[in-house]
Parts: sequence; C-alpha cells; structure tokens
Amino acid sequence: MNHKQALSNPIFKIVAHAAEELGVDCYVIGGFVRDYLLHRGIPKDIDIVAVGSGIELAKKVASKLDGKPKVSVFKNFGTAMIMSNAVEIEFVGARKESYHRDSRKPVVEDGTLEDDQKRRDFTINALAISLNKSDYGNLLDPFGGITDLEQKIIRTPLAPDITYSDDPLRMMRAIRFATQLGFTIELPSLQAITTNKERIEIISKERIVDELHKIMASPKPSVGFALLHKTELLTYILPELLALQGIEEIEGQRHKDNFWHTLEVVDNICKTTDDLWLRWAALLHDIGKAPTKKFHKKIGWTFHGHEFVGSKMVYKLFKRLKMPLDDRMKFVQKMVLMSSRPIVLSEDFVTDSAVRRLVFDAGDHVEDLMTLCEADITTKNPKKQKKYKDNFKIVRQKIKEVEARDHIRNFQPPVSGEEIMKTFNLKPSKEIGMIKEAIKEAILEGEIPNDYEAAKKLMIVIGKKMGLKIS
Ligand code: ATP
Repeated sequence: MNHKQALSNPIFKIVAHAAEELGVDCYVIGGFVRDYLLHRGIPKDIDIVAVGSGIELAKKVASKLDGKPKVSVFKNFGTAMIMSNAVEIEFVGARKESYHRDSRKPVVEDGTLEDDQKRRDFTINALAISLNKSDYGNLLDPFGGITDLEQKIIRTPLAPDITYSDDPLRMMRAIRFATQLGFTIELPSLQAITTNKERIEIISKERIVDELHKIMASPKPSVGFALLHKTELLTYILPELLALQGIEEIEGQRHKDNFWHTLEVVDNICKTTDDLWLRWAALLHDIGKAPTKKFHKKIGWTFHGHEFVGSKMVYKLFKRLKMPLDDRMKFVQKMVLMSSRPIVLSEDFVTDSAVRRLVFDAGDHVEDLMTLCEADITTKNPKKQKKYKDNFKIVRQKIKEVEARDHIRNFQPPVSGEEIMKTFNLKPSKEIGMIKEAIKEAILEGEIPNDYEAAKKLMIVIGKKMGLKIS
C-alpha cells in the first residue's frame, strides 16, 4: 500500500534527503500515520524514527531548513525536536526496550524498526510510512494495525499483560483512545488492564490528569468513565465518583444511581459546551451526595447540604490530583455549590426576586450554571422533561429581563459606605454594613429599583429607624 499523499508536506522530502546523506533509514510513525489513515485531517505533529541516531538526523534536517531552526536535544531520552512552520517534528532513534517492575522508565538499546514498533503501545500507533528511496511512501504494518483501524479495535502489539505492566500509563491511554476515537478495547487488553489496575499508582498524577482531560474533551466522556469503572481503575483515580454508584432500597424507597446519572449529565453538557472546566463541574456536581446520603422514614432518601460538602470535596480532589487550585478550581467549586439553585426555581413558580438572587450569587457564571442545570435533566418521563426544560427557558428569559432592568450581575452598592458615614456623621461601624445590607436586600426583593436615588431615600428611612441623626 502506498501512502505518498500522507507525505504532502515538503518537510518529508527534506527529512528523506538528510537521512540518505547520513546513510540511515527513517520512517514517519505513530499518531501522524494513525490520524492520517483515520481521515482526521493531515496531522500537525510528526514523529520520525531513524534506524540510527535521531539526534544526528534532527541536526542534519535543521541545517537544510530555511532559517535553520533550533534543535532541542533531550539527551537522556535520545530524542530531538524541531519546530518548523508551527509543526513540531520529533526525532528518535529506533530502539528496543525492557522494563523493571518498579518504574516506567525502560532500559533502552538501539534496535530495528520492528523493535521500535513493538515498543509502541497499540497496533494503531505502531504504523510507519517509509521515507527511504527504495520504498518511499510504503506502509509498514507488522502487527495488523490497519485491520484494527478498520475494525475500530485497541490492541497491543505484544502480550497485553506485559504492555500494561511495563508502562501502566498505557491503561489510561487505551481508555482515552477508545473514548476519543469511538474504538473498542479488545477483551484480553481489558482483562490485562483490570489485572494491572493498581500499577496505575506508579504513574504521576499530572499524566493521569492529562488523559482524564482528553477523555473529558471527547464528544462522549461516559465511554471512558464506564471503562475506568469496568476495569476498576476508577477506585484509584476518582473514588469520590465510584462512591456514587449503586442504588439502595429501604422500605420500598429507592434513590437513583448517581454515578450513571452523572455520566449522563456529562454527555449532555458536552453537546452544548466545549469548556473543559464546565464539563468537570458536571462530572463533580453530585460528589457530595455519597457522604450526605440519609434515609428518613417519612420522607425517604435525602442528600441535605450535598452541594456545600461537594464543593469542599472539589478542593481536596483537585489537590490530590495536582490539578490547578486557581480560578479554574474555584469556578468548579462555585458550580457545584450552586448546582441545585436553578432546579429549585424550575420546579416552582419563578419569581423575579428568586431570579435576581440567582444572578447576584452566580454573577458572570449564571449562563454556565444554567447550562449545567439543563444538562442535569435526565428524567426519562417526557412530561417532566418538558416541564423542566420549559421552566428553564422561563428562567433564562427572566434572567435577561431582570438583568436589563436591574443590572444585578457584578452588583455594586448604589450608595457607598462613605456616603452613609457622611449622611449620619458616623465613624466606621457595624451600622454602615447593616444599612448597606438592608439596601441590597430591598433591591433583590424588588422593593426598590437598583438606582442611586431610590437607594438614598431608603438609606435615610433605615437610618432614622435605627435612631441615627442626619448631620
Ligand atoms: P495524541 O497526540 O492524541 O496524544 P499520539 O499517539 O500522537 O496521540 P503521543 O503521546 O504524541 O500520542 O505519542 C506518539 C507516539 O508514541 C504514539 O503514537 C505511540 O506510538 C508512542 N507512544 C506514546 N506514548 C507511549 C507509551 N506510553 N507507550 C508506548 N508507546 C507510546
């Protein structure tokens, strides 16, 4: 099979000439070939394997390129990288690898192309295209990667137990590729992942999270989480989610399975947003339900305060997984904390003041919160489904109206503390805070409009009631 079209980027001819001058064979390999064959467009990043020194080849290629780009050499890994026209080209010497049990760092020796293909994680990632004069453009597929691409199967070139035990990150990669590409992990691989699950503990949190992000960025993340659940990797990665799994029944009263419900919510939200952190909020919005679950004889199952408990758990979870603890974490916390607010509104008659309070508390994130709550509708009862959706439409409309009229978002007190102090000849004291709070409450309740004149009038009334004198 000839795949010269894959090599339309002129860089390949330059690499081929450089390799010929050095007298080494070289090939394009890995993700580039896979994605090209999957028609995911011509991929940007290129991996080149040289049967010889990858670093020398990189230097030779750079010397032939316009502008002589810098060669970044990673001596310890025997690799080198060039950036050319925003394309990242990685060079590596073909190698044979063997592993020790306690590390994912292999002992490396020089090897043939086939040795190098064997060390790749999956057959679909071991495909290579020749850049050599004698067979330029030929596809080299010793492990049946093409068949696996056609049949949409994730399979390892070597015995799966060895592949996953050698480098347990591959377990996450298998699940991530299955989710991204809509592929099936073949049974022996799935079994080997289950057997080797606890070896995930030798993988750094950052790498695990990288893969989780890629699962979350896929069109249907539930595929990945169902696999993490099936292989029991979830126990090691996100036990808080696993704790949501299961349905308990007491005296004929059942609650829903919040794990599978959560996955539905995540898939739903992925249809309406690409925002990674909003997707994370959907994944974590119910995690407080496991620790707060209680059964009461009269009212059945409750999860009181799960939003607050859940938002605290977000911090611990992000910290444990070495995820960012900055505004992104705070945003997820806020979404979890507020996740039930619009639902309460949607079940009831929607009052303006409830909407104003929602906008006040959610600020600029009110639309994101609505998106989360709409995704949270997973009822299979079409009547209820329609009722909730219609009510959310009303809430969204009211948010617009209230906002146009009252400008509650990013609320600034219409009369300042300084003006209150001046009016009543006060020193900094708790009375000022009380007056400000009463004005804010009156605005949120719709008793006065959010403007200076109305607020000033009210300030005087409240001050007098408090026994303050106008100076
Ligand atoms: P993506 O860009 O979507 O992450 P990719 O396959 O290009 O996919 P890279 O991490 O860039 O991923 O890896 C490039 C190639 O290196 C892979 O296609 C695979 O052949 C090989 N590879 C990467 N990681 C591993 C690993 N842990 N074990 C074995 N081979 C690997």
